[in-house]
Amino acid sequence: MPSNSLLHFITKVINIEDIKVANYDFITEDEIVVEIQNQSKFSQCPRCGKTTNKTHQNHWYMVRDIPMSDYQVILKVNRRQLKCTECHQVFSEELSFVKTRRTYTKRLAMKVIKEVLETNVESAARRNGMTVSEVETLLKELEADLLKEKPHQIKKLGIDEITQLKGGKNYAAVLVDLETRRPIALLEKRNKVVIAEYLSSLGSEVLNQIEEVSIDLWMPYKSLIQEMLPNAQVVADRFHVMKQINQELDERRKQEKRAAVKIKSRQEREEKLAGLTHSKYPLLKKKESLNDQEKAKIHSLQKVAPELGEMYRKKEAIRDIFESQITSDEALYKFLEWTETAYKFFPKSCRTISRWIDEILAYFDHRTTQGIVEGINQKIKLIKRRAYGLTNFNSFRRRILLNWHFCC
Ligand SMILES: [Zn+2]
Repeated sequence: MPSNSLLHFITKVINIEDIKVANYDFITEDEIVVEIQNQSKFSQCPRCGKTTNKTHQNHWYMVRDIPMSDYQVILKVNRRQLKCTECHQVFSEELSFVKTRRTYTKRLAMKVIKEVLETNVESAARRNGMTVSEVETLLKELEADLLKEKPHQIKKLGIDEITQLKGGKNYAAVLVDLETRRPIALLEKRNKVVIAEYLSSLGSEVLNQIEEVSIDLWMPYKSLIQEMLPNAQVVADRFHVMKQINQELDERRKQEKRAAVKIKSRQEREEKLAGLTHSKYPLLKKKESLNDQEKAKIHSLQKVAPELGEMYRKKEAIRDIFESQITSDEALYKFLEWTETAYKFFPKSCRTISRWIDEILAYFDHRTTQGIVEGINQKIKLIKRRAYGLTNFNSFRRRILLNWHFCC
């Protein structure tokens, strides 16, 4: 039997509240089993609430803990079954450092997650004396805990899509609480059925509180929200409006380039191509962000392709509308004015604007955008890149949820 002072010392090193080390044993040269005792004797009956310390049965089992310098540590834990003196219910006591039915301490779980997110499953397993499948089980169990936590209140919801895996054509839907700036769900498909199923799992009390939903320009979302969220205003996300305008602008640039290649006169052809070349990014940029070289590019482009120059100005004009501090009524007037002159250049975008005009104008009342969703998307891309081993949606979603929960 080790001396009391040594046990006292290990108790200090182990450092778990209300826990005393009763014994220890080296089972291999780098693995130590530490038998611990719970000092708080009382536990509350889950049925009637009375506290009791009447032991019904001892239940010893092994729990892995964080390594202690070079040693892997296994705690030998007694989770007693108690019998309530009031209602005679038999129940397992709560232990602060390990969840029921888990074989690792809470602090080990936190350490492993951090390491998995920073490196990978294999290296986290190696550092903590675990097998890869033990680490994977740990991640799955923590994810299950997170998925059980549903939001209680959402006022502003954003729905957007992200491409799932590298090279994949599948889209996942990401739902974001626009006020807390956190993703609340990542759904495998972005179709109406899957989103409706998730929304109804939140319950009508939560759904009725939602005041605004910001969406990309996808009609099925709009009708879904109108059906399921009776008190929510649909807001069309301004960045998605701009994205469509930029696409039309870029298509036109490509057209001009294809036409220029076919010009018979060599001098004319080369002049036009010189004006068009490297114009893609200056055209898509906002005018305040252009550097001198890019400004010169836009200038020379306007000479060889005046219509493209005109489209650039129109694109900037509609961005100015979104940027200006005006009411939705004033905005309506400005959009009408814009579409009148822009229709011949941006027919698709003009049709979209007219189909979504109410939802676009709603932006001017609330100024809600999915700007943060864009940021979340960028971060998800980063996680995807780091987690090169991810091959299916579940492990992808697990990474993202754990990352948001434990690393932000
Ligand atoms: Zn009881």
